[in-house]
Amino acid sequence: MKWNEFSEWGRKVADWAQDYHLTVGDRPVRAQTEPGDVLNALPVLPPEAPESMDNIFRDFEDIVMPGITHWQHPRFFAYFAANASAPSVLAEFLTSALAPQCMLWQTSPAATEMETRMMDWLRQSLDLPDGFAGVIQDSASSATLAAVLTMREKSLDWQGNQQGLFSQKPLRIYCSSEVHTSIDRAIWVAGIGQQNLIRVPIKGDWRGMDPVALEEAIEADLAAGLQPAGVILCVGGTGTGATDPISDCLDVAEKYGLYSHVDAAWAGSAMICPEYRHYWPGIERADSIVFNPHKWLGVQFDCSAHFLKAPDDLVRTLAIQPEYLKTHGKDGIINYSEWSVPLGRRFRALKIWFVLRTYGLEGLRNRLRDHINWSNDLHDKLAKTPDFEIVTPPMWSLWSFRYTPEGASDLDDLNLRLVNAINDDGRIYLTQTRVDGDLVIRFQAGQFETTKDDVMMAHDVITEIAKGLS
Ligand SMILES: *Cc1c(COP(=O)(O)O)cnc(C)c1O
Repeated sequence: MKWNEFSEWGRKVADWAQDYHLTVGDRPVRAQTEPGDVLNALPVLPPEAPESMDNIFRDFEDIVMPGITHWQHPRFFAYFAANASAPSVLAEFLTSALAPQCMLWQTSPAATEMETRMMDWLRQSLDLPDGFAGVIQDSASSATLAAVLTMREKSLDWQGNQQGLFSQKPLRIYCSSEVHTSIDRAIWVAGIGQQNLIRVPIKGDWRGMDPVALEEAIEADLAAGLQPAGVILCVGGTGTGATDPISDCLDVAEKYGLYSHVDAAWAGSAMICPEYRHYWPGIERADSIVFNPHKWLGVQFDCSAHFLKAPDDLVRTLAIQPEYLKTHGKDGIINYSEWSVPLGRRFRALKIWFVLRTYGLEGLRNRLRDHINWSNDLHDKLAKTPDFEIVTPPMWSLWSFRYTPEGASDLDDLNLRLVNAINDDGRIYLTQTRVDGDLVIRFQAGQFETTKDDVMMAHDVITEIAKGLS
């Protein structure tokens, strides 16, 4: 394809994308294909001869589209939303046309300086104090890994990268039982070892870490000659929205001089609304905080906002400077590749700029408030519906329930069958989790185009399909 043929297809793709987004609500939310359907539709051999874009595009519709689960569907209530708002799609189109590698300031000064400004806009949007600096990571998992590596290096007096961990005392990191699996993986990758990730018991309606138990765990480790290195807290856990008492836990972390990281990957977006900030009192004392604009703020995947009180600690952990990566003769510039594990970086700040300007913070706040209110309305309605039981209460727009008809014997099996039947039906999409060992069904609202009718329709679908189960 020649570049002078590009705009014809660019327009077709834009038309297709607009039509797709306007009509996606008519499609089943979860892909209805069987394993292997798409694989078997793709030729075994790579093409030797060039093919026309007409053919490629036709196959895109025929082969690819049936195997897509529609994350931009207004009745996507599974996992958490991963919103691609229209301005963010446009910004990504521009980014992919420019395709800059933004590892250093000089490899695209606009990307670096836009990133600095956008991270500060986000910091202000969450009302974090101006001591925090920010970097965009590809995902919350990467931000958490960077924070765990910083904990490791700090607690080893910066010797871990050089000497490895073999001759060191075991490092201990504390979290609750409710944290995301990205925490476990960061611990593995950092060489700290799963057995040194200590699960502190939770208590209360928020299913948050018990700070007294945290202190006891640290004391026990110190008495055993182990080395406490850091605390990982969660605000809005993935299963049920579990939220640690940030201020009380940070009191303990500070008392023992431990680095702290807060995973607010999903719920952090809601902190643009002042009325939800009581969920993280004391957040300004955390060392590291991550949240994903690619979930609830409409800035499409991937875009994870990582705030740091002392970025020098992170840079000291991750920066490596062979001669070809040095920028000579420019003082005070930031090379964001020194703030993250991967060297190469996409221009992610552009889509934040497009989205924040298109909606304004007020527009985004209103969307989030609607999602939370509608989700609460649905919760109230299902709570009053016979044979259904609310298991965990709404945390922002997330809560969980169980179908408990009288006389049912195996409730885990029944609820698994219910969630599968709902997703086969296709009008809505839900996922399950476990709460204290029981299989429960989650509900969350957060898709950008969802309406109150979409949310309330979930009640009809859930009750109708539950009745049809034998
Ligand atoms: C989604 C989520 C993550 C993982 O986010 P990625 O950006 O996909 O790595 C981590 N923690 C929580 C609480 C999440 O909800």
